Amino acid sequence: MSTKHVVSVSGGKDSLATLLVALERCPRADVIPIFCDTGNEHDETYAYLQYLETQLAIEIVRLKANFTAELAAKRVFIARDVRNRREYDTRPVFEADGVTPVPKRDGRGAIVLNKKGKPVQKTVKVGGGRRVRWTNKAKRRALAVMFPSGNPFLDLCMWKGRFPSRTAQFCTQELKTNMAVSFQLELMEAGHKVISWQGIRRDESQNRANASKWERVGTGLWIVRPIVDSTAEEVFAFSASRGLKPNPLYLQDMNRVGCMPCINCSKPELRAIAARFPEHPKRISEWEWRVGQCSKRGFSTFMTDAHPAKDRRAVFADLNIWTRIEWSKTSRGGRQFNLLDEEENEGGGCSSSYGLCEQSELTTWEAATL
Ligand code: SF4
Repeated sequence: MSTKHVVSVSGGKDSLATLLVALERCPRADVIPIFCDTGNEHDETYAYLQYLETQLAIEIVRLKANFTAELAAKRVFIARDVRNRREYDTRPVFEADGVTPVPKRDGRGAIVLNKKGKPVQKTVKVGGGRRVRWTNKAKRRALAVMFPSGNPFLDLCMWKGRFPSRTAQFCTQELKTNMAVSFQLELMEAGHKVISWQGIRRDESQNRANASKWERVGTGLWIVRPIVDSTAEEVFAFSASRGLKPNPLYLQDMNRVGCMPCINCSKPELRAIAARFPEHPKRISEWEWRVGQCSKRGFSTFMTDAHPAKDRRAVFADLNIWTRIEWSKTSRGGRQFNLLDEEENEGGGCSSSYGLCEQSELTTWEAATL
Protein backbone atom coordinates (compact mmCIF):
# COMPACT_ATOMS: atom_id res chain seq x y z
CA MET A 1 0.00 0.00 0.00
CA SER A 2 1.20 3.53 -0.75
CA THR A 3 1.86 6.43 1.55
CA LYS A 4 -0.96 8.98 1.52
CA HIS A 5 -0.20 12.65 2.05
CA VAL A 6 -3.19 14.24 3.76
CA VAL A 7 -3.11 18.04 3.61
CA SER A 8 -5.53 20.02 5.76
CA VAL A 9 -6.74 22.93 3.64
CA SER A 10 -8.61 25.78 5.33
CA GLY A 11 -8.76 28.23 2.45
CA GLY A 12 -6.05 30.31 4.11
CA LYS A 13 -2.57 31.20 2.93
CA ASP A 14 -0.59 28.78 5.13
CA SER A 15 -2.52 25.68 4.19
CA LEU A 16 -2.34 26.68 0.52
CA ALA A 17 1.46 26.99 0.67
CA THR A 18 1.61 23.62 2.41
CA LEU A 19 -0.58 22.04 -0.26
CA LEU A 20 1.65 23.46 -2.99
CA VAL A 21 4.77 22.02 -1.35
CA ALA A 22 3.07 18.63 -1.04
CA LEU A 23 1.99 18.66 -4.68
CA GLU A 24 5.51 19.56 -5.81
CA ARG A 25 7.30 16.97 -3.65
CA CYS A 26 4.96 13.97 -3.69
CA PRO A 27 3.23 11.86 -6.33
CA ARG A 28 0.01 13.73 -7.16
CA ALA A 29 -2.16 10.65 -6.88
CA ASP A 30 -1.11 10.24 -3.24
CA VAL A 31 -1.83 13.82 -2.13
CA ILE A 32 -5.27 14.13 -0.53
CA PRO A 33 -6.32 17.67 0.39
CA ILE A 34 -9.10 17.76 2.99
CA PHE A 35 -11.30 20.63 4.15
CA CYS A 36 -13.14 20.39 7.47
CA ASP A 37 -16.31 22.37 6.90
CA THR A 38 -17.47 23.92 10.18
CA GLY A 39 -20.62 25.41 8.66
CA ASN A 40 -19.46 28.79 9.97
CA GLU A 41 -17.40 29.75 6.92
CA HIS A 42 -17.67 32.65 4.52
CA ASP A 43 -19.05 31.97 1.03
CA GLU A 44 -15.81 33.42 -0.39
CA THR A 45 -13.95 30.53 1.20
CA TYR A 46 -16.18 27.92 -0.41
CA ALA A 47 -15.75 29.69 -3.75
CA TYR A 48 -11.98 29.89 -3.18
CA LEU A 49 -11.79 26.12 -2.65
CA GLN A 50 -13.43 25.64 -6.03
CA TYR A 51 -10.95 28.09 -7.53
CA LEU A 52 -8.07 26.04 -6.10
CA GLU A 53 -9.56 22.81 -7.41
CA THR A 54 -9.76 24.29 -10.89
CA GLN A 55 -6.33 25.93 -10.86
CA LEU A 56 -4.51 22.95 -9.39
CA ALA A 57 -6.60 20.23 -11.04
CA ILE A 58 -7.22 18.53 -7.72
CA GLU A 59 -10.20 17.47 -5.65
CA ILE A 60 -10.48 18.73 -2.09
CA VAL A 61 -12.32 16.24 0.11
CA ARG A 62 -14.98 18.02 2.21
CA LEU A 63 -15.43 16.62 5.72
CA LYS A 64 -18.47 17.69 7.70
CA ALA A 65 -19.31 16.58 11.22
CA ASN A 66 -22.78 15.20 11.87
CA PHE A 67 -24.38 15.44 15.31
CA THR A 68 -27.77 13.88 14.50
CA ALA A 69 -27.21 10.95 16.87
CA GLU A 70 -25.93 13.18 19.69
CA LEU A 71 -28.92 15.50 19.39
CA ALA A 72 -31.34 12.57 19.44
CA ALA A 73 -29.67 11.18 22.59
CA LYS A 74 -29.73 14.61 24.25
CA ARG A 75 -33.44 14.98 23.53
CA VAL A 76 -34.10 11.65 25.24
CA PHE A 77 -31.89 12.67 28.19
CA ILE A 78 -33.71 15.99 28.61
CA ALA A 79 -37.16 14.45 28.29
CA ARG A 80 -36.33 11.84 30.95
CA ASP A 81 -34.39 14.06 33.35
CA VAL A 82 -35.90 13.73 36.84
CA ARG A 83 -32.84 14.49 38.97
CA ASN A 84 -33.69 16.35 42.17
CA ARG A 85 -30.21 17.35 43.35
CA ARG A 86 -29.32 21.04 43.73
CA GLU A 87 -26.01 22.76 42.95
CA TYR A 88 -24.84 25.43 45.39
CA ASP A 89 -22.28 28.19 45.38
CA THR A 90 -20.05 27.97 48.45
CA ARG A 91 -17.82 30.25 50.51
CA PRO A 92 -14.82 29.31 52.69
CA VAL A 93 -15.16 29.49 56.50
CA PHE A 94 -12.61 31.25 58.73
CA GLU A 95 -12.10 31.46 62.54
CA ALA A 96 -13.26 34.61 64.37
CA ASP A 97 -9.98 36.36 63.44
CA GLY A 98 -11.13 36.22 59.80
CA VAL A 99 -7.78 34.81 58.68
CA THR A 100 -7.35 31.29 60.04
CA PRO A 101 -9.17 28.72 57.89
CA VAL A 102 -11.59 26.39 59.68
CA PRO A 103 -10.78 22.78 58.68
CA LYS A 104 -13.43 20.56 57.21
CA ARG A 105 -14.35 17.53 59.36
CA ASP A 106 -15.93 14.21 58.40
CA GLY A 107 -18.87 12.56 60.16
CA ARG A 108 -16.62 11.31 62.98
CA GLY A 109 -15.07 14.70 63.65
CA ALA A 110 -11.72 13.90 61.95
CA ILE A 111 -10.11 16.62 59.82
CA VAL A 112 -10.46 15.91 56.10
CA LEU A 113 -7.12 15.93 54.24
CA ASN A 114 -6.48 16.50 50.55
CA LYS A 115 -4.26 14.31 48.35
CA LYS A 116 -1.18 16.14 49.57
CA GLY A 117 -2.09 15.48 53.19
CA LYS A 118 -3.07 19.10 53.87
CA PRO A 119 -6.33 19.98 55.72
CA VAL A 120 -9.26 20.90 53.48
CA GLN A 121 -10.95 24.18 54.42
CA LYS A 122 -14.58 24.06 55.52
CA THR A 123 -17.08 25.71 53.19
CA VAL A 124 -20.75 26.62 53.57
CA LYS A 125 -23.48 26.85 50.98
CA VAL A 126 -24.50 30.28 49.80
CA GLY A 127 -28.01 31.02 48.57
CA GLY A 128 -30.76 28.61 47.68
CA GLY A 129 -28.79 26.75 45.00
CA ARG A 130 -29.83 25.72 41.53
CA ARG A 131 -31.77 22.68 40.51
CA VAL A 132 -29.60 20.27 38.56
CA ARG A 133 -32.45 18.84 36.55
CA TRP A 134 -34.07 20.52 33.59
CA THR A 135 -37.21 22.40 34.58
CA ASN A 136 -40.35 21.56 32.65
CA LYS A 137 -40.25 25.01 31.06
CA ALA A 138 -36.61 24.55 29.95
CA LYS A 139 -37.46 21.07 28.66
CA ARG A 140 -40.32 22.38 26.55
CA ARG A 141 -38.12 25.19 25.22
CA ALA A 142 -35.24 22.89 24.27
CA LEU A 143 -37.30 20.03 22.86
CA ALA A 144 -39.11 22.46 20.55
CA VAL A 145 -35.93 23.45 18.69
CA MET A 146 -33.32 20.76 19.31
CA PHE A 147 -33.41 19.18 15.87
CA PRO A 148 -30.48 18.74 13.45
CA SER A 149 -30.11 21.79 11.23
CA GLY A 150 -27.46 20.25 8.98
CA ASN A 151 -25.03 22.95 10.03
CA PRO A 152 -22.22 21.31 12.05
CA PHE A 153 -21.37 24.39 14.12
CA LEU A 154 -24.97 25.08 15.11
CA ASP A 155 -25.77 21.43 15.76
CA LEU A 156 -22.68 21.05 17.94
CA CYS A 157 -23.67 24.08 20.03
CA MET A 158 -27.27 22.91 20.37
CA TRP A 159 -26.01 19.53 21.53
CA LYS A 160 -23.69 21.13 24.09
CA GLY A 161 -26.30 23.75 25.05
CA ARG A 162 -23.70 26.49 24.71
CA PHE A 163 -21.13 28.06 22.42
CA PRO A 164 -17.44 27.20 22.73
CA SER A 165 -15.07 29.54 24.53
CA ARG A 166 -11.34 30.04 24.91
CA THR A 167 -11.28 27.69 27.88
CA ALA A 168 -13.69 25.18 26.33
CA GLN A 169 -12.74 25.30 22.66
CA PHE A 170 -14.60 22.14 21.74
CA CYS A 171 -15.36 23.50 18.24
CA THR A 172 -11.79 22.83 17.08
CA GLN A 173 -11.82 19.32 18.46
CA GLU A 174 -15.27 18.30 17.27
CA LEU A 175 -15.43 20.06 13.92
CA LYS A 176 -11.84 19.85 12.73
CA THR A 177 -9.45 17.61 14.66
CA ASN A 178 -11.81 14.66 15.07
CA MET A 179 -12.84 14.80 11.43
CA ALA A 180 -9.25 14.91 10.15
CA VAL A 181 -8.07 12.17 12.52
CA SER A 182 -10.98 9.87 11.60
CA PHE A 183 -10.20 10.37 7.93
CA GLN A 184 -6.55 9.50 8.48
CA LEU A 185 -7.40 6.45 10.59
CA GLU A 186 -9.65 5.16 7.83
CA LEU A 187 -6.73 5.40 5.41
CA MET A 188 -4.52 3.56 7.87
CA GLU A 189 -7.14 0.86 8.37
CA ALA A 190 -7.13 0.45 4.59
CA GLY A 191 -3.42 -0.35 4.89
CA HIS A 192 -1.86 2.99 3.93
CA LYS A 193 0.87 4.88 5.72
CA VAL A 194 -0.24 8.46 6.36
CA ILE A 195 1.71 11.69 6.42
CA SER A 196 -0.36 14.56 7.75
CA TRP A 197 0.75 17.91 6.30
CA GLN A 198 0.09 20.91 8.52
CA GLY A 199 0.44 24.56 7.52
CA ILE A 200 1.61 26.21 10.70
CA ARG A 201 4.39 28.70 11.26
CA ARG A 202 6.54 29.29 14.32
CA ASP A 203 6.08 33.06 14.24
CA GLU A 204 2.28 32.78 14.40
CA SER A 205 2.03 32.45 18.16
CA GLN A 206 3.81 31.44 21.35
CA ASN A 207 2.09 28.04 21.21
CA ARG A 208 3.67 27.31 17.87
CA ALA A 209 7.11 28.78 18.54
CA ASN A 210 8.66 25.34 19.05
CA ALA A 211 6.75 23.43 16.39
CA SER A 212 8.94 20.80 14.78
CA LYS A 213 9.15 20.05 11.08
CA TRP A 214 8.67 16.32 11.46
CA GLU A 215 6.90 14.32 14.11
CA ARG A 216 6.24 10.60 14.33
CA VAL A 217 2.84 10.19 15.93
CA GLY A 218 2.65 6.40 15.84
CA THR A 219 3.18 3.40 13.62
CA GLY A 220 2.39 4.47 10.09
CA LEU A 221 1.50 8.07 10.97
CA TRP A 222 3.72 11.14 10.70
CA ILE A 223 3.16 14.87 10.76
CA VAL A 224 5.14 17.21 8.52
CA ARG A 225 5.09 20.99 8.79
CA PRO A 226 6.98 22.30 5.77
CA ILE A 227 6.49 26.03 6.35
CA VAL A 228 7.32 26.30 10.07
CA ASP A 229 10.28 28.59 9.33
CA SER A 230 8.42 30.85 6.90
CA THR A 231 6.92 34.26 7.49
CA ALA A 232 3.46 35.38 6.37
CA GLU A 233 5.02 37.44 3.56
CA GLU A 234 7.06 34.47 2.31
CA VAL A 235 4.01 32.26 2.30
CA PHE A 236 1.98 34.76 0.27
CA ALA A 237 4.91 35.26 -2.10
CA PHE A 238 5.33 31.51 -2.58
CA SER A 239 1.70 31.02 -3.64
CA ALA A 240 1.87 34.09 -5.88
CA SER A 241 5.00 32.68 -7.55
CA ARG A 242 2.90 29.65 -8.51
CA GLY A 243 0.28 31.94 -10.08
CA LEU A 244 -2.34 31.60 -7.34
CA LYS A 245 -4.41 34.42 -5.90
CA PRO A 246 -4.93 34.56 -2.11
CA ASN A 247 -8.35 34.09 -0.56
CA PRO A 248 -10.19 37.38 -1.29
CA LEU A 249 -11.03 37.70 2.42
CA TYR A 250 -7.42 38.77 3.05
CA LEU A 251 -8.15 41.82 0.94
CA GLN A 252 -11.19 42.72 3.01
CA ASP A 253 -9.69 43.44 6.43
CA MET A 254 -9.57 39.79 7.49
CA ASN A 255 -6.25 38.75 8.99
CA ARG A 256 -7.27 35.12 9.11
CA VAL A 257 -9.45 32.74 7.16
CA GLY A 258 -11.70 30.34 9.01
CA CYS A 259 -14.89 30.67 10.99
CA MET A 260 -16.78 33.85 10.21
CA PRO A 261 -16.57 34.96 12.89
CA CYS A 262 -14.33 32.90 15.17
CA ILE A 263 -15.28 32.82 18.85
CA ASN A 264 -11.80 34.26 19.49
CA CYS A 265 -11.92 36.95 16.84
CA SER A 266 -10.18 40.21 17.57
CA LYS A 267 -11.90 43.53 18.13
CA PRO A 268 -10.85 45.03 14.74
CA GLU A 269 -11.82 41.83 12.97
CA LEU A 270 -15.27 41.78 14.55
CA ARG A 271 -15.73 45.41 13.60
CA ALA A 272 -14.68 44.64 10.02
CA ILE A 273 -17.00 41.63 9.79
CA ALA A 274 -19.95 43.71 11.02
CA ALA A 275 -19.20 46.45 8.50
CA ARG A 276 -18.45 44.25 5.49
CA PHE A 277 -20.48 41.10 6.04
CA PRO A 278 -23.56 42.04 8.12
CA GLU A 279 -25.28 38.79 7.19
CA HIS A 280 -22.86 36.89 9.42
CA PRO A 281 -23.65 38.69 12.71
CA LYS A 282 -27.32 38.30 11.79
CA ARG A 283 -26.85 34.56 11.46
CA ILE A 284 -24.90 34.42 14.72
CA SER A 285 -27.70 36.32 16.45
CA GLU A 286 -30.20 33.70 15.24
CA TRP A 287 -27.86 30.99 16.47
CA GLU A 288 -27.63 32.69 19.87
CA TRP A 289 -31.41 32.49 20.16
CA ARG A 290 -31.57 28.85 19.10
CA VAL A 291 -28.65 27.65 21.22
CA GLY A 292 -30.10 29.64 24.15
CA GLN A 293 -33.33 27.67 23.75
CA CYS A 294 -31.28 24.48 24.03
CA SER A 295 -29.54 25.70 27.17
CA LYS A 296 -30.86 24.85 30.62
CA ARG A 297 -30.65 28.51 31.56
CA GLY A 298 -32.29 29.81 28.40
CA PHE A 299 -29.43 32.05 27.19
CA SER A 300 -26.14 31.56 25.41
CA THR A 301 -23.77 34.02 23.78
CA PHE A 302 -21.44 33.34 20.86
CA MET A 303 -18.55 35.22 22.42
CA THR A 304 -18.30 34.37 26.08
CA ASP A 305 -16.48 36.32 28.76
CA ALA A 306 -16.24 36.57 32.52
CA HIS A 307 -19.21 38.57 33.81
CA PRO A 308 -20.06 39.53 37.39
CA ALA A 309 -23.85 39.24 36.98
CA LYS A 310 -25.57 36.06 38.13
CA ASP A 311 -28.71 36.76 36.12
CA ARG A 312 -28.33 35.14 32.69
CA ARG A 313 -30.54 37.84 31.13
CA ALA A 314 -28.12 40.54 32.26
CA VAL A 315 -25.14 38.52 30.99
CA PHE A 316 -26.84 37.96 27.66
CA ALA A 317 -27.71 41.64 27.32
CA ASP A 318 -24.07 42.56 27.83
CA LEU A 319 -22.39 39.85 25.78
CA ASN A 320 -24.68 39.09 22.84
CA ILE A 321 -23.27 39.55 19.36
CA TRP A 322 -24.86 42.96 18.76
CA THR A 323 -23.50 44.38 22.02
CA ARG A 324 -20.09 42.95 21.20
CA ILE A 325 -20.19 44.60 17.79
CA GLU A 326 -21.00 47.96 19.38
CA TRP A 327 -18.12 47.34 21.78
CA SER A 328 -15.82 46.51 18.85
CA LYS A 329 -16.39 50.07 17.57
CA THR A 330 -15.02 51.56 20.76
CA SER A 331 -11.46 52.10 21.90
CA ARG A 332 -9.97 50.56 25.06
CA GLY A 333 -13.12 48.68 25.96
CA GLY A 334 -15.20 51.82 26.41
CA ARG A 335 -18.76 52.27 25.27
CA GLN A 336 -18.09 55.26 22.99
CA PHE A 337 -17.77 54.88 19.22
CA ASN A 338 -14.27 55.50 18.00
CA LEU A 339 -15.23 58.09 15.40
CA LEU A 340 -11.66 59.02 14.63
CA ASP A 341 -10.88 55.48 13.74
CA GLU A 342 -14.00 55.28 11.55
CA GLU A 343 -13.00 58.43 9.71
CA GLU A 344 -9.47 57.22 9.21
CA ASN A 345 -10.81 54.08 7.62
CA GLU A 346 -12.94 56.02 5.18
CA GLY A 347 -9.97 57.05 3.14
CA GLY A 348 -9.66 53.61 1.60
CA GLY A 349 -6.01 52.74 1.21
CA CYS A 350 -4.84 49.26 1.96
CA SER A 351 -7.58 47.36 3.66
CA SER A 352 -5.56 44.19 3.95
CA SER A 353 -3.95 43.30 7.22
CA TYR A 354 -1.12 41.77 5.17
CA GLY A 355 -0.49 44.64 2.86
CA LEU A 356 -1.58 42.77 -0.22
CA CYS A 357 -3.24 45.75 -1.91
CA GLU A 358 -0.69 48.42 -1.12
CA GLN A 359 2.65 48.65 0.62
CA SER A 360 1.62 48.84 4.23
CA GLU A 361 2.79 47.60 7.59
CA LEU A 362 1.74 44.12 8.58
CA THR A 363 -0.48 43.97 11.61
CA THR A 364 0.30 41.72 14.51
CA TRP A 365 -1.13 38.25 14.34
CA GLU A 366 -3.95 37.31 16.64
CA ALA A 367 -2.70 34.34 18.59
CA ALA A 368 -3.27 30.80 17.45
CA THR A 369 -5.95 30.99 14.83
CA LEU A 370 -6.69 27.73 13.06
S1 SF4 B 1 -11.90 29.08 13.89
FE1 SF4 B 1 -12.55 29.68 15.95
S2 SF4 B 1 -14.75 29.21 16.07
FE2 SF4 B 1 -13.89 28.11 14.29
S3 SF4 B 1 -13.38 26.06 15.03
FE3 SF4 B 1 -11.54 27.32 15.25
S4 SF4 B 1 -11.60 28.21 17.32
FE4 SF4 B 1 -13.65 27.42 16.83
